[in-house]
Amino acid sequence: MTDRRPIVGGNWKMNTDRDTADRLARDVAVACADAVADRDIIVFPPFPYLEAVRNALGSSGVRLGAQDVYHEANGAYTGEVSVAMLLDLDVSHVIIGHSERRHVIGESDNLINAKVRAALDGGLEVVLCVGETLEQREAGETEAVTLAQVRAGLDGIDPNDLKRLILAYEPVWAIGTGRTATADDAQTVHAAIRAELSRRYDNTSADTIRIQYGGSVKPDNAGELFARPDIDGGLIGGASLNADHFASIVSAAGVAAGDRV
Ligand code: PEP
Repeated sequence: MTDRRPIVGGNWKMNTDRDTADRLARDVAVACADAVADRDIIVFPPFPYLEAVRNALGSSGVRLGAQDVYHEANGAYTGEVSVAMLLDLDVSHVIIGHSERRHVIGESDNLINAKVRAALDGGLEVVLCVGETLEQREAGETEAVTLAQVRAGLDGIDPNDLKRLILAYEPVWAIGTGRTATADDAQTVHAAIRAELSRRYDNTSADTIRIQYGGSVKPDNAGELFARPDIDGGLIGGASLNADHFASIVSAAGVAAGDRV
């Protein structure tokens, strides 16, 4: 039994335009109207549409997230966005260390850790993404790589700030590929992450932190994944661009939580 509140995020990545972002946000707000009572639901639109999406979500209870943030407060950092700027737009959550930022943009563990620290210091809730590449999985390095990313990402993080931290286990080979980790494989890694948190902090923190799974989660596989004891919801890419699909994944998180009690 767990009282971890399920959490489902929709990472829209570099998709939508102003009109479709507005429409999608309104549709998600309606489709998830009841779910917000017992699940955290967040959408992560592209930066330019944060304000439009905030207005479209209104008082629905669906939260507003950003896909990244920079760790410096202000200054000559062309193209970057600060924690204060996000807070100014009523952003509550931020994704840090997404595999596309690690592997396409080339972000290091050090940079990711600096971002996590700055975001938590500023009062944001952080979704820290970790996960192995296909090559690493085939070399048997899944847990070593993933746990090293957890350790590096959380270096120097005050235990008191952990309540605003969410982890997302996202095997790189499963993101946007249509390939999903089996529920058993995902559960194994989630349990290993929780054990690492327990060693690093304490049992209570480890039991309390929510760990989402991400990687080609769809309405037809969400239920099986979320039924596993250490999987507390999902970070959803492609399927979050369709409000009905997203809502049905949100609903699967609610069913799984109900079944666990
Ligand atoms: C993601 O962007 O975090 C993700 C998991 O994408 P997808 O669901 O498309 O695999």
